Amino acid sequence: MSNLWRGILRILHVLPKGIMWNVKNGMGTRFWEDVWLQDGPPLGELAENLPPEAANVKVVEMVLNGNWNLDYARLYLPEAVVMQLQLHPVPHASEADTPCWRLSSSVRFTVLSAYELTAEGEEESWQHPAWKAAWKVDGPQRVKPFFWLVLHNRLLSNAERRWRHFATADGCTVCGGRPETNSHVLRECSYARAVWAEVLSDEPDVFFNTSIDHWVMHYLSGQRKIIDSPLFEVTCWNLWKNRNNWVFEKQLASTQQLLNQVRALRRQIEQAGVMARKVLGAGLARNMELIGWKRSLSGWFCLNTDGSVTGGQVITAAGGVIRNDEGRFVKAFSTNLVGGSITHTEMVGIVIGLQLAWEEGCQKVLVQTDSAMAVQLLQEATPGHPHYVQVSAIRDLLAREWEVHVGHIFREGNVVADYLASVGHALPAGVHVFKNPSSMLSNWLYFDTLGIQTPRLVNS
Ligand SMILES: [Zn+2]
Repeated sequence: MSNLWRGILRILHVLPKGIMWNVKNGMGTRFWEDVWLQDGPPLGELAENLPPEAANVKVVEMVLNGNWNLDYARLYLPEAVVMQLQLHPVPHASEADTPCWRLSSSVRFTVLSAYELTAEGEEESWQHPAWKAAWKVDGPQRVKPFFWLVLHNRLLSNAERRWRHFATADGCTVCGGRPETNSHVLRECSYARAVWAEVLSDEPDVFFNTSIDHWVMHYLSGQRKIIDSPLFEVTCWNLWKNRNNWVFEKQLASTQQLLNQVRALRRQIEQAGVMARKVLGAGLARNMELIGWKRSLSGWFCLNTDGSVTGGQVITAAGGVIRNDEGRFVKAFSTNLVGGSITHTEMVGIVIGLQLAWEEGCQKVLVQTDSAMAVQLLQEATPGHPHYVQVSAIRDLLAREWEVHVGHIFREGNVVADYLASVGHALPAGVHVFKNPSSMLSNWLYFDTLGIQTPRLVNS
């Protein structure tokens, strides 16, 4: 086979994955098999026990009496995905659905982004500059998902869904004007304009006339100089928060009250920054890095393990999950243990996880533990060390006829194992193996599948 042909074959199977459907009448898009709800795997890959005949169900067929058939969706999808569905407008337009290439910023197909999909995986589509900027916001944690919603054009539908209980029109009930779009909420509404007028220094024409995507990107990433980055985020967040107060509590803060909230939150953020610098000291250079789980290279299974200790080393538990190189769930376990230090518990987690991977017939396994101490002990511990029993149990497993690499991962990338370890506390003694993920576990797996990253200060 020529290299070119090999290359084409390699890319061919990922092409459908690169297509995202813009649903209008919902008749040309398959609900489970096509990518349409979000920039991620098709819903069929997130579903459990989906009957094979469901494969060709169209999006429009999932509508019942003018609303999503959520009860049906809940039979197969984790709640996190059902929530996404609730936020998506029900198909209504008379126009046909349109495909677009989802990994490049332009909708045109490009060879480069198809290659990126094979080389790096879907999480790369989350490396959007504005998305990164949103995670770097020094503000409260909840501001970050808010910008995720803005960037995915979900605020409108969110508001619309909730507003059904209060109003039938899609108009803005604050100013009584135009349809309530993202752009209206954050920028065009007279309420928003009055606030921005106090906050902005100059260039209002550019500010109000670019498309909403460019607007968010430019100001969030600090590329435009007329407003500094925390002020922009904090103002957007407060506009949204106060609008919700209006919808749910029927209370609308005055422009002046909102500006006071903005200034107070900004002051908090600045003070937190000063504190952080004091604590860290001048000599220690630290960088903000985005940490998230990444699936293993082709042919390698990924085993994440974790230990959990509460009540002063009395109550301990461990857990772990095996996923394949596509990030798909293979097996998981939780176990309730009797006492021990955190390092002991982490190592027991690795032993159980490796045994499970061996029984599963995995030939190449990448072990990810958030215990740097465990990784170090595996390399260095000699007989007589208090943890030598676990160390030699792991070394015996590593010596079998397979390839295993044990590495360290920050907690932020180990959320699924962390969850499984915490579950262990509530279970009867013994190792509990899960062949299918519970709905709660599915939520955490989904979190990783999306490639969601969390900022962390690391030594540079
Ligand atoms: Zn308005």
